[in-house]
Amino acid sequence: MPDSIEWENLGFQYLPTNAYVMSEFRDGCWSDMRICNGTSLQLHIGATCLHYGQACFEGLKAFTRKDGTIAMFRPDANARRLANSARRIAMEPPSEKLFLECCKTAIHHNLEFVPPYGTGASLYIRPLLIGTTPRVGLKAAEEFVFITLVTPVGPYYKDGFFPVKAYVQEDFDRAAPKGVGNVKVAGNYAAGLYSDLQAKKKGFPIALYPDSAEHRYVDEFGTSNFFAITSDNRYVTPDSNSVLPSITNDSLQQLARDFGMTVEKRKIPMNELGKFREIGACGTAAVITPVCSITHNGTIYTFGKQDKAGETLNRLYKEIQGIQYGEIDDRHGWMLTV
Ligand SMILES: *Cc1c(COP(=O)(O)O)cnc(C)c1O
Repeated sequence: MPDSIEWENLGFQYLPTNAYVMSEFRDGCWSDMRICNGTSLQLHIGATCLHYGQACFEGLKAFTRKDGTIAMFRPDANARRLANSARRIAMEPPSEKLFLECCKTAIHHNLEFVPPYGTGASLYIRPLLIGTTPRVGLKAAEEFVFITLVTPVGPYYKDGFFPVKAYVQEDFDRAAPKGVGNVKVAGNYAAGLYSDLQAKKKGFPIALYPDSAEHRYVDEFGTSNFFAITSDNRYVTPDSNSVLPSITNDSLQQLARDFGMTVEKRKIPMNELGKFREIGACGTAAVITPVCSITHNGTIYTFGKQDKAGETLNRLYKEIQGIQYGEIDDRHGWMLTV
């Protein structure tokens, strides 16, 4: 079946693979991993994940490198973030060891779905933790299921590394102050679907959310972090406790420092938007999406050329992809060979 996959033309959608991996938490401990065929899962109709959104997930990628080996990008960071998300919504997290084993096993059982080097594609890994105890009264589950599925994906944006227009969403908030914006819980994404759709209907592929308390500072885009490059080449990204700590953003900050740039993590007033030279949205799926304009209450701020990514974004993108595909020395030890 993988013979028919056109690696270069893969989008970002689920393509059926051989198997997924599952572990269950019951009576206080995690079971051994099970390899499951097919694409369905049997659940009690009263499971807390279905009724109360007791679910959190991760997203990371594995790459076939230039030397032919397969490696995941910073999976230990995803394991720690999932543990954090789980605790925030009263769930039992899998250990880092179990998390990594599940990712590795899922890759090993789907080797023919790992896109070859040179195609620009990668294997997307989606670990998911759900509460499975049936409850009709609100109470946390005591049983959990941890599954890891994988699927090959191409670059997120079919048109490639081209800039998009962003819209500042003033009508809806993404995350409450001291809420769950800083963890990757399923409910956040259902809550953002409608407002993202409103922005899309207006012709903007991505929506930018200000802080929910005052709408005075930049938080992040719907599913990716915000970062900006100043005219004197500093890397600026919001300091906010309702932003999801993006591993891509953290990695880009490190690369910016490697390039000798100053990195500033601070509050970014909305009225500072017009002063930046380049704006990027970052996350695992698209890595970096250059943003060429931001529309806020009728004012349009533009950044660089409208049909071309800026120089610094380009350099950061090439560097991180170079490390992921084993073309540039993995000087920070980010890649875990499987
Ligand atoms: C997953 C996610 C990101 C990106 O995080 P990465 O670790 O870089 O993939 C950014 N913002 C939100 C809201 C997210 O859910």
